[in-house]
Amino acid sequence: MKTLTPPMISPDEALRLIFERAGVLGEEKVPLADAVDRVLAAEIRALDSLPPFDNSAMDGFALRSADIKDAAPGNPVELTVLETVRAGGSGRLEVKPGEAARIMTGAPLPRGADSVVMAEMTEPGAKGKVKLTQATRPGSHVRSRGEDVLEGSLLLDAGARLRPYDIALLAAQGVTEVPVIRRPRVAVLATGDELVDYREEPAAGRIRDSNGPALLAALSRWGAPAENLGIAPDEPAALRAALAAALSRADVLVVSGGVSAGDFDCTKSVFAALGIREVFWKVAIKPGKPLFFGVRRDPGEPPKLAFGLPGNPVAALVCLEEFVRPALEKLQGHAPKHASYHLTGTALNDYPKPADRRQYLFCSAKAGPGGYELNILRPQGSAMLGMASRANALAVGPEGVSRVVRGDALKFRWLK
Ligand code: AMP
Ligand code: MG
Repeated sequence: MKTLTPPMISPDEALRLIFERAGVLGEEKVPLADAVDRVLAAEIRALDSLPPFDNSAMDGFALRSADIKDAAPGNPVELTVLETVRAGGSGRLEVKPGEAARIMTGAPLPRGADSVVMAEMTEPGAKGKVKLTQATRPGSHVRSRGEDVLEGSLLLDAGARLRPYDIALLAAQGVTEVPVIRRPRVAVLATGDELVDYREEPAAGRIRDSNGPALLAALSRWGAPAENLGIAPDEPAALRAALAAALSRADVLVVSGGVSAGDFDCTKSVFAALGIREVFWKVAIKPGKPLFFGVRRDPGEPPKLAFGLPGNPVAALVCLEEFVRPALEKLQGHAPKHASYHLTGTALNDYPKPADRRQYLFCSAKAGPGGYELNILRPQGSAMLGMASRANALAVGPEGVSRVVRGDALKFRWLK
């Protein structure tokens, strides 16, 4: 007789358990040039003020605003042009009453001047002079020292993922190396007696491994160095041999296949034999219900996380994105600030779903006159790669609902 199937846990609870188990990995220093997408291990404070000196925001004339306070089209004021100050240079002369300096964007503001008038707003005056027909405010078109960043102020918090804007900021500060959390090392294994490498011709009854390449592709996009363990048959000894060595090197094991209740499914028993303790098995989602998550703790080392993904390729990728990716972020100390399903669209068609599970619905989404419209592809299936590849969006059919109905507002995200 079969034992009762264990209850499913909710996807939110699953994620909570994953976050609880995944500790932040150690840190390392990397050159700024290699630091994009890395997560800061410590806060960074400004070494310098930005801009580092008062400078011009425009090509024009640096002058004393008081000199032209009465300037008007009927009352032009002419100022003597002393010299031209270029970016990278510096004005030699102080601007005194009745004087101006021609100045280029980024050039230091000459002493005495308090304002810049755009070249387009001036006219040539008598020889060596510039004519102004409008007043200006002090500070106009001047970027003053420290207006953007003050020396000593907080630039970036620990846990921030560095974007090109942040790289620019740190480069402007002269930061050459940054402390970041090391990247999690992931090992990927596909299991199944039916699988052959996709570069080979499958014999009768066998299929090409599509999970291996897909999981590795996703991990490489996310910047997690992944070791490809290839394919293992549904034999405990072979599976164990493939995983035992990898477990000593990897922070995260990602195994696809063999986590359901089939006669030859042995991923869970092999995990157990390798000292991986089950945290949960079976999550109330579709696709992806058989997802397994376990942890091995070795003294003095960060906990090793093991994911057993369902073998069906669409389910495997959904689980990777929904559960493994957040785990990789947590291992790097990164706390995303927004929900991954942050868009809302209107369902264009009905779709039945299990009420006790959250369903990830593959859609073709487009912007309509009243907002995004979601055409739920039919049929959906956890093995239907053609369907998944045709979709450009993933929507959430919420728990507690037995049918998505045309006109329903659904949360979704793009499948990029
Ligand atoms: P399993 O989770 O091992 O019961 O597998 C469920 C389904 O997914 C079966 O139809 C398998 O043939 C298929 N499958 C398992 N692993 C892969 C893989 N790596 N690539 C493509 N299909 C797979
Ligand atoms: Mg299998």
